[in-house]
Amino acid sequence: MWILKINMSDKTYKLEDVPNAYKNLGGRGLTSTIVCDEVNPLCHPLGPNNVLVFAPGIVTGTDAPTSARVSVGAKSPLTGGIKESNAGTSWSVDVARMKIKAIVVYSQPKEDKYWMIHISWDAKEERPKIEFLPADEYIGSDLYAVFPKIYERFGKGISIAGIGVAGEYGYANSGIVFNDLKGQPTRYSGRGGLGSVMGSKRLKFIVTSAQGAPEVPIVDKALFDQGCEKLANALRTHDITKPKGGLNTYGTAVLINILNEAGGLPTRNFKTGRFEGAPKIAGEAIFEGNKTRVGKEVYNHACSPGCIIQCSNTWYKQDGREHVSCVEYESDWSLGANLGIDNLDQIAEMVRLCNAYGLDTIETGGTLGVAAEAGIFKFGDGEKAIELIHEIGKGTPLGRILGSGTASAGRVLGVVRIPAVKGQGMPAYEPRAVKGIGVTYATSTMGADHTSGYTINNEILGVGGKVDPLSPEGKAAISRNLQAATAFLDSTGHCLFIAFAILDIPSGFEGFVEECNGILGTNWTAEDVIKIGLEILRKERAFNVAAGLNDSHDRMPEFMKYEPLPPHNHTFDVPDEVLDSVLKTV
Ligand code: SF4
Repeated sequence: MWILKINMSDKTYKLEDVPNAYKNLGGRGLTSTIVCDEVNPLCHPLGPNNVLVFAPGIVTGTDAPTSARVSVGAKSPLTGGIKESNAGTSWSVDVARMKIKAIVVYSQPKEDKYWMIHISWDAKEERPKIEFLPADEYIGSDLYAVFPKIYERFGKGISIAGIGVAGEYGYANSGIVFNDLKGQPTRYSGRGGLGSVMGSKRLKFIVTSAQGAPEVPIVDKALFDQGCEKLANALRTHDITKPKGGLNTYGTAVLINILNEAGGLPTRNFKTGRFEGAPKIAGEAIFEGNKTRVGKEVYNHACSPGCIIQCSNTWYKQDGREHVSCVEYESDWSLGANLGIDNLDQIAEMVRLCNAYGLDTIETGGTLGVAAEAGIFKFGDGEKAIELIHEIGKGTPLGRILGSGTASAGRVLGVVRIPAVKGQGMPAYEPRAVKGIGVTYATSTMGADHTSGYTINNEILGVGGKVDPLSPEGKAAISRNLQAATAFLDSTGHCLFIAFAILDIPSGFEGFVEECNGILGTNWTAEDVIKIGLEILRKERAFNVAAGLNDSHDRMPEFMKYEPLPPHNHTFDVPDEVLDSVLKTV
């Protein structure tokens, strides 16, 4: 296995053997370790000294179910701290099969020209072949128009990682896009502005062609197969993850009605926890709407190879043609309830525009929320919201302000109620109604990030045990354990959604660990999962502290401490000392 080191200043590369210290790492564990080892925490995120790291997970590229994730890491221009953001795509499988454990991109070209890198498998040399190609012809364009050109140029069997105009403009709200299974630009490492880091290196695309590449090496195949079978069985039987179960039928937007009922669906820039239009935009409405428009029931599909859960939906137009994939919970909320918009066609169009321009849908919805609060447009005005996303895509002066993300735009526009932590806009769970997720938002090394410690499992869904979402009691421990377990899970290459099954079905969890042991030849146990996860968090936190992020950044926005949230009329009342106890001692 190799680490592929790309130097953008002179367009050279090195394929280096994986150092011993990195041998058992993958995904987030590897991206965060390389960022900690190689990046000066005080560097400018868009300057030459930041590095951009891509790493498939430990089991990615194998038959392990639901495991085609790639982690992307760097110092974040949005938070100023370390960032890992992962996506499901065939691109990660290609990279893993070409025996590349990580791609590390250094420096910047002197000339203002864009480049693309083509990585293919050289069967004769039994190693990857790397080519640097000019990419200026793809700049400034809609990604839906550019992706077909890349497929036409390199052939159908390729996969693509890249950036849209948001990354070219240097927006702190810009993601890195990957192809889905239909070859569309819909899968994003969206959070944290990593698209602008790639853009700062004048790297437009990394195209992979893994035809002829070998299988990913497996030390103990029997153990690995046993682990895969246990995990697959758990995924196929759990109500949330099974075929035609909750996620396969209604997608993640099944959560809209659930969070609305719980009073935890942030509405109109976090003013209330209930949205009267929720039933019109919920997963159930998407399913029924599609049934009417297409003339039959439409179940969801996989975003990436080998996914059993298949939660990724498509929204169809009135005439039955595809509008966009996918309207998942976070996008549905951020561009829907958070803006007071209950029209699925308008929400779908905003998702499509975010995909086309290379924007993170969560950050875009958060930013438009503070823009509405500032009077730039009226909550509920979907057409104006669409216009504003076009302004972001065109790079107008207002568009550039909005492209800077929720916290920066809110400051420029004089807004007091800014729902962000460490500069990153909050996702779709109200911390005053679901206190544990607030603990995660406040203390995560990533800024406000629900995926880094998804306490919704326990607080709302009753997965892994049920606790009262409105109580601040015991939430530090729940968040800490989930943050550690997630840091490990993000290192394996599995999608976070396997957590629903493995937290409830012990054999599924065993299988998840056995897969890793089978690949690596390790003897990890359940305790090691938490230990390894805590070690990743320790490194990430140390990076953040050195970058200048201290306890005062592990805080909820002040307005959430004095403004009660209807319908429960709670404030965020987890004491600061409790927040400080979560990760300080890891
Ligand atoms: S569960 Fe959904 S998001 Fe996760 S890999 Fe499968 S389709 Fe993609």
